[in-house]
Amino acid sequence: MKIHEYQAKEILKKYAVPVQDGIAIKSMNEFDSAIQQLQARGINQFVVKSQIHAGGRGKGKIYNPANRDELILEGGVKFTTDVQKAKDYASKMLGNLLVTHQTGAEGKIVQTLFITEGLDYKKELYLGILLDRAASKNVIMASTEGGVEIEKVAEETPEKIIKEWVDPAIGFQGFQARKLAFGLGLEGNAFKNFVNFILKLYKAYEDTDASLLEINPLVITNDDRILALDAKMNFDDNALFRHKDIADYRDLNEEAPLEIEASKYNLNYIKLDGNVGCMVNGAGLAMATMDIIKLAGGEPANFLDVGGGANKETVANGFKIILSDPNVKAILINIFGGIVRCDRVAQGVIDAVKEIEVNVPVVVRLDGTNAIEAKEMLENSGLNFSVASTLKEAAEKVTNVLAKV
Ligand code: GDP
Ligand code: MG
Repeated sequence: MKIHEYQAKEILKKYAVPVQDGIAIKSMNEFDSAIQQLQARGINQFVVKSQIHAGGRGKGKIYNPANRDELILEGGVKFTTDVQKAKDYASKMLGNLLVTHQTGAEGKIVQTLFITEGLDYKKELYLGILLDRAASKNVIMASTEGGVEIEKVAEETPEKIIKEWVDPAIGFQGFQARKLAFGLGLEGNAFKNFVNFILKLYKAYEDTDASLLEINPLVITNDDRILALDAKMNFDDNALFRHKDIADYRDLNEEAPLEIEASKYNLNYIKLDGNVGCMVNGAGLAMATMDIIKLAGGEPANFLDVGGGANKETVANGFKIILSDPNVKAILINIFGGIVRCDRVAQGVIDAVKEIEVNVPVVVRLDGTNAIEAKEMLENSGLNFSVASTLKEAAEKVTNVLAKV
């Protein structure tokens, strides 16, 4: 799960990680009061920051969502010392479309703003913590090339990224924090403040079961304080049950509507760009099905795991979700009857097709317990299914139908 920058900073504050002071607002009615509160705390430089689940906001562009050719503002993050200007920026961002290199051309509507204290600083650094799956360890990455996309640094000047792996048995050690600080060329108070910063940051990452915690840029102020100017946090969904407060940060506005709909029915659905809708039981079989569709020359429109008990309801809900995607031109159902018997699935498919309007060709491949009975039921149903015995045959059939539409 992803969260917004302002939410990540709320978490970091709890771990005493230094961040700029700021207030999140959801409407312009809250703007004046937010500024007044910041001013009361002695703040007179402001940054107006669009909150969306994507990076590159600073270099992004704000467009009118009703007319995507109309450019409203250059930049989704704006620094100013002028309150009137801050208000103008805020009103141009809120409710409009922010397009960055990470959002794709469709962009994201800005529904929340984070108004923060604007800092003067002398240097931008990069700091990231994530799980290195190959090493089975968390890795801390740091670079003097802050404020730049880290993927670009990794590609062009990989020697500028220093890494420390954390042994899960002994945890992150003080000497490792100092090694990173040396690697970044820090001295004096900046060195000490950095060591303190990274130790706290790592604790926040570990305690919250985060899968990514990225600070880009991390800044050194003129008086050698170290602060997180930006913060991106992702969490392991499987651990959210033990972090109710973090789970509450979920912002449905940022998620694909079909994926939210599917999660209501306990279906694991991920939308893709192709035109072959897939309904499969089991994540492994779903991946294999997508592979074989590609091998047969087709493009899957989605990943959909209907889970263990594929009955009439799950199949019907699966159809509804798949058919809500206008790109879907054919559907491939691939179910293995292990615990669930194929004849029950076949009945589910027949009932679901009778109940909802399925106006694209459907290829069905059922294998496992009672597969022969299931095949007969589908063939005798009077409905227009194409039945296949093997996965390869199913994939070829579905790509052949597509060639004809
Ligand atoms: P991103 O573009 O989505 O990564 O958003 P960031 O939070 O990283 O902000 C983008 C850029 O805005 C930063 O890289 C800085 O250059 C600038 N910026 C953000 N906050 C401040 C600030 O307090 N002071 C100054 N001088 N620049 C800021
Ligand atoms: Mg950033």
